[in-house]
Amino acid sequence: MSKTVKVGTVTIGGGNPVSVQSMTNTKTVDTQSTLEQIERLTGAGCEIVRVSVPDNESAVALKSITLESPLPVVADIHFDYRLAIESIRNGAAKVRINPGNFGQEWKIVETVKVAKEYNVPIRVGANSGSIDQNFSHLCRVTALAESALAQVRLLEKAGFEDIIISVKASSVSETVEATRYVSEKVDYPLHLGVTEAGFGLDSIVKSSIGIGALLLSGIGDTIRVSISGDPIQEVEVAFSILKALNLRPGPDIISCPTCARTEINVEKLAREVKQWLKGIDDDITVAIMGCVVNGLGEGKEADIGIAGTRTGGVIFMKGRIVEQTARGELEERFKYWLDKALCKGEDR
Ligand code: SF4
Repeated sequence: MSKTVKVGTVTIGGGNPVSVQSMTNTKTVDTQSTLEQIERLTGAGCEIVRVSVPDNESAVALKSITLESPLPVVADIHFDYRLAIESIRNGAAKVRINPGNFGQEWKIVETVKVAKEYNVPIRVGANSGSIDQNFSHLCRVTALAESALAQVRLLEKAGFEDIIISVKASSVSETVEATRYVSEKVDYPLHLGVTEAGFGLDSIVKSSIGIGALLLSGIGDTIRVSISGDPIQEVEVAFSILKALNLRPGPDIISCPTCARTEINVEKLAREVKQWLKGIDDDITVAIMGCVVNGLGEGKEADIGIAGTRTGGVIFMKGRIVEQTARGELEERFKYWLDKALCKGEDR
């Protein structure tokens, strides 16, 4: 099991729930827009937010952001150790740095001193673009992993062990293999993600496979899904991944792919059910099946389900039919039984 590291109010590692992170894409100096985006991310369930600190103005702006943010704020810094120190003093709950590009060792020592004073952990790591040239003779996966471990050793040498590590590539297999390599060498918590995963469906597939494969083998303590565009979708995908792996509670909607036997609009009803269940944490399984031919059998494990018939649908709970309903009342009656199933869950 990994060590635990506290990022503000969130504990990472040590068997704690895998936490969900995202990153703002507003200008950090525009504190109002940044805070508005953090609010939206919070509403979507995000638990830790990262903010870029590219210059001194951003480090100054971080003060009001960390004061008002409902989430712990991670400052993302490249090259300048002074920005890391300023960010910590301005309320960052964690800093993400690459100590290898700070230049001199004393700058790492200075940063570590302030991080210790403020009890702030440091995330280090490597991605495809930051492979240490000392490892260029090794294969890409090993070079990536060893680059991250080299940064860990720099912090350890400076007497610091409040560390989180990430090893990311835009290649799914490289990300998975390099992260596995690191997990076998050290027991610091691991931040998972496939970097520069692209946008839309492809990015979702890449992140789901990469993060999912690692989480399935018990590796990973916090995740960030990378998608070009509105970061809210990163959080939604992250929770879908965790839900699919049973790492977070919540409703599971199963619906059939539809075929020539389909008697009801499965997709429309599934979307409506998803909407009805928004904000509900119950571990309830809801089945929406296009027909009774296969639907009843395939949905029999569900807590509640519906299967289409020529005249409407049958509603069933744990495989037992509780009502046959006419087409015009289908949604209303299904909602009635769904609410009932949810109440039953509360009574348990
Ligand atoms: Fe087709 Fe019925 Fe199976 Fe849905 S449940 S895919 S409608 S056979």
